[in-house]
Amino acid sequence: MPARDASSSWLRRARSAAALLRVRELAFTLRRCPFCGITIVLRLRRDELGIRCLRCGASAVHLSLGWTLRRHVPRLHDRDACELSARGPLSRYLRAQARSAALSEYRADLAPGSVRDDVRCEDVQHLTYADASFDLVTHTEVMEHVPDDLRAFTELHRVLRPGGIMLFTVPLRVTEKTLERAMLRNGAVVTLIAPMYHTDPLRGGSGILVFRDYGGDIVARLLAAGFDRAWIQTPPAGAVPWGYGRAVVCAVRA
Ligand SMILES: [Zn+2]
Repeated sequence: MPARDASSSWLRRARSAAALLRVRELAFTLRRCPFCGITIVLRLRRDELGIRCLRCGASAVHLSLGWTLRRHVPRLHDRDACELSARGPLSRYLRAQARSAALSEYRADLAPGSVRDDVRCEDVQHLTYADASFDLVTHTEVMEHVPDDLRAFTELHRVLRPGGIMLFTVPLRVTEKTLERAMLRNGAVVTLIAPMYHTDPLRGGSGILVFRDYGGDIVARLLAAGFDRAWIQTPPAGAVPWGYGRAVVCAVRA
């Protein structure tokens, strides 16, 4: 990473940490981060959003996915990876450790496959990658914002090679059924219940619409999209301190 990018990334992390900080809830502990090794993990406040690796900035979601990656994907240096974001600790780790890393962001105003500011644009419902391009696909907190998730899962299955694995996180209530919050009808968003938005660092403003709250039936959705095996993996106790470990969804193409 060029020095200026590194310093602006550090500054961005420091700003976001300052915004989250509640001084009376601040705590820290020595841990091994799956991306950067022995580190201090900070709790900036008492919720999942307040967890950060001091060295690489990994969140509770990233730490959970990183541990699952280390467990299920040996020999990363022999694998071609696809990650649906172009920034953050997971993207940096894949760029440094995998044989190749195709990183992208979704931009509604750009055609899939086009590039702006060195970042490739991809729509997970219409990927421009060739069939069987990758051994590993990862994404975090994306699929709940995708209107047609079955189409997206089918696309992600298409770009995986036989034997490839997909690891991802979504907000997940394992014991419940998926709750559809919104859908697209003739190209227009129709909300089925009160709309919910998540903030998005790329877009800022009012946030990005949540199309559904996933439940344990996400496994059945993945099998319906063509995956041969899918399961929900809980990271080991201690992988993420203070009990903020996040379930990671895993799916394999045979
Ligand atoms: Zn780290």
